[in-house]
Amino acid sequence: MSSPDDTTTQGSHDPVESFDAIVIGAGISGLYQLYKLRELGLSVRVFEAGSGVGGTWYWNRYPGARFDSESYTYGYSFSASLLREWDWSEHFSAQPETLRYLEYVADKFDLRRDIQFNARVRSAHYQASTNRWEVTTENGTRAHAHYLITAVGVLSAPYTPDIPGIAAFQGRAWHSSNWPHSPVDLSAQRVAVIGAGATAVQLITEVAKNVGHLTVFQRTANFCVPLNNGPIPPAEQPALKARYDEMFARCRETYGAFLYDFDRRSIFDVTASERTEIFERLWLEPGFGLWLGNFHDIMTDENANELIAEFVRQKIGERVTDPEIAERLTPRDHFFGSKRVPLESGYYEAYNRPNVQLVDLRASPIEAITRTGIKTSAAEFDFDVIIFATGFDAVTGALTRMDIRGEEGQSLKEVWADGPRTYLGLQVVGFPNLFTVVGAQNAANFCNVPRCIEQNVEWVTDCLRYLRNHQLQRIQATPEAAEEWGLHCKEVVANSLFLKINSWFMGANIPGKKRAFLAYGGGLPRYRDKCEEVAAGGYSGFQLE
Ligand code: NAP
Repeated sequence: MSSPDDTTTQGSHDPVESFDAIVIGAGISGLYQLYKLRELGLSVRVFEAGSGVGGTWYWNRYPGARFDSESYTYGYSFSASLLREWDWSEHFSAQPETLRYLEYVADKFDLRRDIQFNARVRSAHYQASTNRWEVTTENGTRAHAHYLITAVGVLSAPYTPDIPGIAAFQGRAWHSSNWPHSPVDLSAQRVAVIGAGATAVQLITEVAKNVGHLTVFQRTANFCVPLNNGPIPPAEQPALKARYDEMFARCRETYGAFLYDFDRRSIFDVTASERTEIFERLWLEPGFGLWLGNFHDIMTDENANELIAEFVRQKIGERVTDPEIAERLTPRDHFFGSKRVPLESGYYEAYNRPNVQLVDLRASPIEAITRTGIKTSAAEFDFDVIIFATGFDAVTGALTRMDIRGEEGQSLKEVWADGPRTYLGLQVVGFPNLFTVVGAQNAANFCNVPRCIEQNVEWVTDCLRYLRNHQLQRIQATPEAAEEWGLHCKEVVANSLFLKINSWFMGANIPGKKRAFLAYGGGLPRYRDKCEEVAAGGYSGFQLE
């Protein structure tokens, strides 16, 4: 194995450092991948665009940002001492606490010394002659490595719509995931939020509490359900920690790696009153229970879905004082759970405040952003601040915005122009020794993400160990295996209501992006079984050299 001291020189003043592996991203997956590769004895360099660790939790600092997964199921499970030492203060931790946790992890395992911060990767080119990946960052750092592992997350390429006049606005404007690092006082400001997805729902609720005036520009109303968060008192910590093994075991078994799972009965197997009782119970439970702990056929049967959709619509109506505003907030154009369900903590009540206004963009679309605000087809609005909570070029965007080129010089962006094609969501044909942790067609995209991250990272690490133990230098997916995986990915969601509507799961939130289900919809247990089967078969479906 080479070491970071194996520095070569390309050109007289242009040192190119050499590593066994380069990891892109120091979020939850990048940190754990670094930890595991070190365990394997590899030299590793992590390139991270931000100035600190944390990925999603580094970037998304907007007010109200917090887990939608139970804190204790979200943290890493690999270290008993970490589990013992860390106390989560709430069932669903807020962003500052989560960022502190990831910083604590980085310090505890001394990870920072192998991370280069403020280093956004511009390109990664595979050189067939040397069997190495050459990586260049935007600030000019160059390095090469035998293995390249992308750990860039699912939702890290922010999307800002190309609205005419956007550059002319003279107030302040930013995307939710680029929230300023210094405190922002909105208490006397006229603020616009564009968007009504999971991010907007969290930030509108919080911003509304202390703002001069808030105007929300909503295109599609969402089915939002209560988070039902609460503190975890110190006295309850020991009992909670005693259950870690049990909780992680449960997460290994469930479809989305949460503590709850779909009810195997059909919604039509119970009477109407039993159904209402179950819905009411799930409504009061914390987290995604009403979605992922509901009857399984709400995700495949339109009639079954309508029953839960109508239940949620009624709840919305009960919480918003003005019936006209309630109606604007009531989703009628998609199925419950076919878009990611936003979890909320007083979102609907925000619209009962006198200084919060809701603009329905279906009735009056945005025509332009002006020097002073936003012009819709019906009115002009003046603002001091515009917040774009307009989502992300999900799953593939963070990869295709880098210039990643395989053995024939082909770019990943071109190869995926008609939608992503992968093997196990972890490799792409023609890109040897490249692993895409949390990549497209990977269960991690529809998962309590860290649980799937641990599976992905451990699989990649085991694979690299296998290559080393068998003196193998190169691994790449065969076209046949990738083709079969693509068909399998389609088959597991063939009956799903996901396919019938527009969302980031389908790539449909980005104009011009090929419509394709970007995740693996078969659930974590099935995905893990497939991955384990491949490994047990000596990495079947891969060409090893
Ligand atoms: P999103 O769900 O894609 O929502 C984007 C919003 O912007 C939608 O309301 C969309 O409207 C609107 N929009 C986009 N382009 C627009 C345009 N040109 N004009 C007007 N409106 C426009 O993005 P997000 O809210 O950032 O959430 C993305 C994902 O991040 C979530 O689904 C979730 O997985 C994750 N997330 C997780 C947490 C958590 O775990 N705690 C919190 C927040 C987010 P349309 O619906 O009409 O397209």
